[in-house]
Amino acid sequence: MIDAPQSWPCEICSKPSVPRVHDGCTDRVRQNLTALPGLYRELAGALHPGRRGGAGRSGTRTAPLPCSLDALDLRARGGIEGILATWSADLCEREGWTLPVYGTVETAVDGYADLLATNLLRICDEHPAVREFADELRQIVGQARRIITGEKPPRRIPVACPCGQVLRVTLDTAGARCPGCDVQYGHGELLGLPLAERRVAA
Ligand SMILES: [Zn+2]
Ligand SMILES: [Zn+2]
Repeated sequence: MIDAPQSWPCEICSKPSVPRVHDGCTDRVRQNLTALPGLYRELAGALHPGRRGGAGRSGTRTAPLPCSLDALDLRARGGIEGILATWSADLCEREGWTLPVYGTVETAVDGYADLLATNLLRICDEHPAVREFADELRQIVGQARRIITGEKPPRRIPVACPCGQVLRVTLDTAGARCPGCDVQYGHGELLGLPLAERRVAA
């Protein structure tokens, strides 16, 4: 076809794309941006295992606690906040906007993540370093998730399908297909199955 739209390497994944960045690549950046405020809060649980902390006071450096220093780093000013603030400052400078200033690290994470998500299409269309932006977000999201899941792995619950097959699910499992009888279960249906006795492997 002569009029086939011209494609270029996507600025994020390098595979051929008609838009400057694939919609799917843009969506992944958006998912990471929108996940960060929640991950920031979840990291508070990794700081003080067994206790769900409220918003911490920022700016005080006290004696080291028996906690995850990595979680502490990500929650400090310059951690998750630093990455979002740096890219927000860059966006505002390019657009001639005033960079919003926030009183706490937590409100800054919320505000900057929202600012970047709101302007994500602009960034994907125009920013020369969009790949670096996407990479940094993916890295910090991965790092946060590993800390959170490493400290508190989701509990796997063995449930029994009527066919006899035991499925191991977590409260986060969206759905699963039983390998025994090929029935597809949704989240609620899986959690409604009877608990299975754990069997000792032979
Ligand atoms: Zn792409
Ligand atoms: Zn089954």
